[in-house]
Amino acid sequence: MKTQEILQTPKKESKSDSHLGNSESNPWQQAMAQLDRAATKMKIDPLVVERLRHCKRILTVSVPIKMDDGSFKVFEGYRVQHNIDRGPAKGGIRYHPQVSLDEVKALSFWMTMKCAVVNLPYGGAKGGIICDPSKMSLGELERLTRRYTSEISIIIGPDKDIPAPDVNTNDQVMSWIMDTYSMTIGYSCPGVVTGKPIEAGGSLGRKEATGRGVFYVTRELVKAQGKDLKNMTIAIQGFGNVGSNAAKIFHENGSKIVAVSDVNGGLYDEKGLDIPDLIKYAAEHKGFASYPKAKAISTDTFVEVPCDILIPAAMENQITSLNAARVKAKYIVEGANGPTSGEADRILHEKGVWVIPDILANAGGVTVSYFEWVQDIQAYFWNEDDVNHRLQDIITKAFKEIYAMAQKENVDLRLAAFMVGLNRLAKTVKLRGTFP
Ligand code: NAD
Repeated sequence: MKTQEILQTPKKESKSDSHLGNSESNPWQQAMAQLDRAATKMKIDPLVVERLRHCKRILTVSVPIKMDDGSFKVFEGYRVQHNIDRGPAKGGIRYHPQVSLDEVKALSFWMTMKCAVVNLPYGGAKGGIICDPSKMSLGELERLTRRYTSEISIIIGPDKDIPAPDVNTNDQVMSWIMDTYSMTIGYSCPGVVTGKPIEAGGSLGRKEATGRGVFYVTRELVKAQGKDLKNMTIAIQGFGNVGSNAAKIFHENGSKIVAVSDVNGGLYDEKGLDIPDLIKYAAEHKGFASYPKAKAISTDTFVEVPCDILIPAAMENQITSLNAARVKAKYIVEGANGPTSGEADRILHEKGVWVIPDILANAGGVTVSYFEWVQDIQAYFWNEDDVNHRLQDIITKAFKEIYAMAQKENVDLRLAAFMVGLNRLAKTVKLRGTFP
């Protein structure tokens, strides 16, 4: 595997970020505002809310590695377990120059809520290392991953906390994590991490799972409103694991994808992009910057592109108070975590835009990660149809529950999703009580 296959060019600093107020640009503050909104509406016991306003465990680690030129560098990494009341902590690991503790805390909180929304027996966690993987060799990345795994091995494990891929980490990185942890404990332990290659204990369907979940949930919403997905145009921001697989699955099901982007640029074709051709081109050319068969468009204004359905599948804070009013889409489906700020949410709601929130829209990934963990623990593997059907059941059931809550309480889908998840979680927290 080549370095470029693992690495994506990191996000350039968005021009708009610097103009946002601190609370809008800080993901942890945004996450806590979402918690407060749902807790107030559901009249959740303030003691439970107070518990959820704190992460259970926050581990900061220094990760020293030898670089290829013989020098040593020390990177800063985190593993945060937000909550483990409903089961072991679960959540991805991100490599990015803009990783921060507040970002990792917010992502771990969203994992707690996401697992509760789709009713998986997990709590929430997240990890990250501040690094620029596009400037590191494959060997440096492997050493970084192994040392980071060793540093966080005191809190991870198949019954404790199970990492997975996120931005700039993939199945090769998960294999290194599995191997390092297994070497430490003295026997093979595939259940310590999910998103592994099939040959290292991975699950069929895991690679496509987040994109597939995005598709299922979009189809359900459109159907609930008496419309047909096949007549709709789609724009997808981010063309990594989530974005490219979502594009592939929507395309296979007859939808027209008119725009895509990655960190280096965007493409637009009102007649619809040839997605299989584009995926092949992107793999061969390390991106689609010079793709000749579509018009190049800017990443800065990508979320404003004309389309029916916008799927942000890159980073946080892409739709904010600065651009929400100019969004043309009628539906936003959050493949990424935290792409819409609370201020943008309000503007979109007033405009009548439907937003399927991240904690439901991208829950396909953690759902099939859960299947992978179950298969690893039982050492018994399922076929791909089984995986996809079970995924469809879970995502559809969660969608229906949340849509019904939104109708009954006359609230947007984000608030409805938080209400469903928080209600489930609060019951467990109350039943378990406070030790000692
Ligand atoms: P990835 O590293 O595979 O891909 C990220 C993509 O986003 C790349 O194409 C990159 O070029 C692009 N990108 C980065 N900054 C951009 C920008 N400013 N504008 C346009 N494109 C940009 O990551 P991924 O695993 O696909 O994750 C994407 C998002 O989905 C993240 O928010 C992640 O937390 C979330 N998510 C991922 C999974 C999963 O299973 N991988 C599951 C749930 C949620």
